[in-house]
Amino acid sequence: MTASSELFVGSHLSTSGGWGRLLQRSHDEGGTTFAFFPRSPYGKRSKALADTSPEAFAGRLVAEHYGPLVVHAPYVYNFAGKDASKRAFAVDALAEDIRMLAPIARAGQTTYINIHPGSHVGQGSEAGCRLIADGINRVCDDLAKDGTADAGVMILLETMAGKGTECGRSFEELASIIDGVENKAVVGVTFDTCHVYDAGYDIVNDLDGVLREFDDVIGLDRLKAIHANDSQFGFGSHKDRHANIGKGELGVDFFRDMVNDPRLAGLPMILETKELTETTHRDEIALLRSLRR
Ligand SMILES: [Zn+2]
Repeated sequence: MTASSELFVGSHLSTSGGWGRLLQRSHDEGGTTFAFFPRSPYGKRSKALADTSPEAFAGRLVAEHYGPLVVHAPYVYNFAGKDASKRAFAVDALAEDIRMLAPIARAGQTTYINIHPGSHVGQGSEAGCRLIADGINRVCDDLAKDGTADAGVMILLETMAGKGTECGRSFEELASIIDGVENKAVVGVTFDTCHVYDAGYDIVNDLDGVLREFDDVIGLDRLKAIHANDSQFGFGSHKDRHANIGKGELGVDFFRDMVNDPRLAGLPMILETKELTETTHRDEIALLRSLRR
């Protein structure tokens, strides 16, 4: 890849006001991709999105050559929960989210939905990973009933910091989840830079080695998106506290490596950093673009 290849970057945006406002916010920050919650972080359906069809929105994204969308599933979904009813909620809600997003994918806009794989809450990571794979299989079965599975909305498993009993804290855990998914074409991975460093992968000193390890364990062909966050805490701290770009333990030199690594070229890079002022995200997007060689 050359330096002229496009950098798809944007932030996690509010959906208030609906599809049109969402795209306006992306334009305002100078983004070429973005993330949003398909419902409230606690699981309530978003009226602003549900009330209107996303077809016009999708058409504009395609016309403007947007990078892949990385929709973020609400935090409450726990595919590894102890309670069968909790797991069923995650399955039903994710299937419903994918149905809402299907018209966007059908319009030709690459669309991913990112999930936190789940927390095993004491059942052990092996059992947790099995439950998560199981949940994804049930989502796929449900989507196959009305043909939504064919729309091509891919589910991305996020690399986690390893806070509490989170599953997905190592590449091996993510690989074991993928191993249990029957239709492997529906599943990919989001690489969260803060979480990966927090989990004990030294991307600051050896991004190359970490990506090679990712390739060995999971396969770089599964890497579909990046959550670009600096980290408030140090290497292997398992804290999961994002910092603004260049203001944490990763630092600007890491982000320069990130935007110039040919293995990451073309992947959507989503900021999940705090908006300190109205221009924080616009400035961070411009900063990442300026780091391209
Ligand atoms: Zn996340």
